Amino acid sequence: MYQSFIGLEIHIQLLTETKVFCGCINRFGDEPNTNVCPVCMGYPGVLPALNGEAIHLSYIVARALNCTLSPQAVFERKNYFYPDMPKNYQISQFSSPLGRNGWIDLEYQGKKKRIRIHEIHLEEDAGKMIHAGDMSLLDYNRAGTPLLEIVTEPDMEAGEEAELLLQNFRRTIRYLGVCDGNMEEGSMRCDANVSINLEGKGLGRKVEIKNLNSSRFVRMALNYEIERQTENLDKGVKVIQETRLWNENRDVTEAMRTKESAHDYRYFPEPDLPPFIPGAEFLARVDKGLVELPEARRARFIADYGLNETAADFLINEKATADFYEEVLKSGAAPDTAASWLQFDVRKILNRGNQELAGSPLTAQRLAQLLSLLAENRIHGKIAKQVLEAVFAEDKDPARIIKEKGWEQMNSPAELAALVDKVLAANTKAADAVRAGDEKPLGFLMGQIMKETGGRAEPRLVQKLLKEKTG
Ligand SMILES: [Zn+2]
Repeated sequence: MYQSFIGLEIHIQLLTETKVFCGCINRFGDEPNTNVCPVCMGYPGVLPALNGEAIHLSYIVARALNCTLSPQAVFERKNYFYPDMPKNYQISQFSSPLGRNGWIDLEYQGKKKRIRIHEIHLEEDAGKMIHAGDMSLLDYNRAGTPLLEIVTEPDMEAGEEAELLLQNFRRTIRYLGVCDGNMEEGSMRCDANVSINLEGKGLGRKVEIKNLNSSRFVRMALNYEIERQTENLDKGVKVIQETRLWNENRDVTEAMRTKESAHDYRYFPEPDLPPFIPGAEFLARVDKGLVELPEARRARFIADYGLNETAADFLINEKATADFYEEVLKSGAAPDTAASWLQFDVRKILNRGNQELAGSPLTAQRLAQLLSLLAENRIHGKIAKQVLEAVFAEDKDPARIIKEKGWEQMNSPAELAALVDKVLAANTKAADAVRAGDEKPLGFLMGQIMKETGGRAEPRLVQKLLKEKTG
């Protein structure tokens, strides 16, 4: 039996206003080579200056991932030549990264597992190379974007675990507000490494996989690679230590280059940047940036509100939804009712319009008002759904919609009794059948009354009156 060892290297671009060592705007999608300056273009003689917000966000991530913080974070030059790196070196961290020995907890197939984080370091992103036909174009807007690298230990065994880790991690960084986690646009990127060996023999020869721009591809590529390596070992073929690319059109990994015997990047301390020493005041500010993380919130929602796992998972997936939900509860709405409305009715409308909850006409106050009108029996369930649709369509409060449309429930026994009499008189055949003991026409009579009232009659009261008057 073979054992597999999977590790991930995740890169996230930090959501800062400006780049990490210069004042250029940090923004995706601008006209190529417009957000550049002598510092990020690597002109001789320029001086980098560390962006305070970038280092702040980096430490928030390190704390959230349970890392031991380094007493001093050292910046070093990683030397290599590549056209997307105009300085011929990248400012990164090597000997003393800002965080080490953290962890992320996973739950896979009912089993809890702790994935260790080897280290977290801050570096600058490279520019972007765009290959068009036989030309290669360069856009340096991305050069110098603050990039945080998170390196896990090879603690995962299956592609599914790696996919889950990425999903959990993405949710965490979105909760922290440090990165939008958009893998398609490249603000979050992932390289995976995998080796297999006979059980108990330790790590095998490591194969790296690049070009993974979704967590689904990470799972597929790793599972493909585990199968490929297993087949090779079974046949007595040695696995080569190499870098492979995921081909998303063919669903296979392909050899890219064999790993030159350990790169020599000649790291040395960046002479133009002093080590960063986090002081007490800085660390206090970092702690202020820590919010309740998704896993903790999920556990609390289940314990405090009695939600099932599916509802809790749905609500905590986006921080905005979880915040919205708790805002609705403040008005006294029942936790399970509010959860169900968000999970089904609201989601259905949002999906249909390809809309986000945040910025939509439905505010927490409006949903709270709708649920309280429902709880007070002033409208019934079917009308409530129409009111919700109207909130989205007309951008008005539920109470106003009900008033304007005359949708308030009819609860007056006298008013409804008169109506029941009228319907019975107009449908003597059905009424007589019910009186003779046939219950079938009751549904039809009920429908007639609902039609008369535009669906506003309180159904239980109508049912009671119908029984009385035909009994
Ligand atoms: Zn710049």
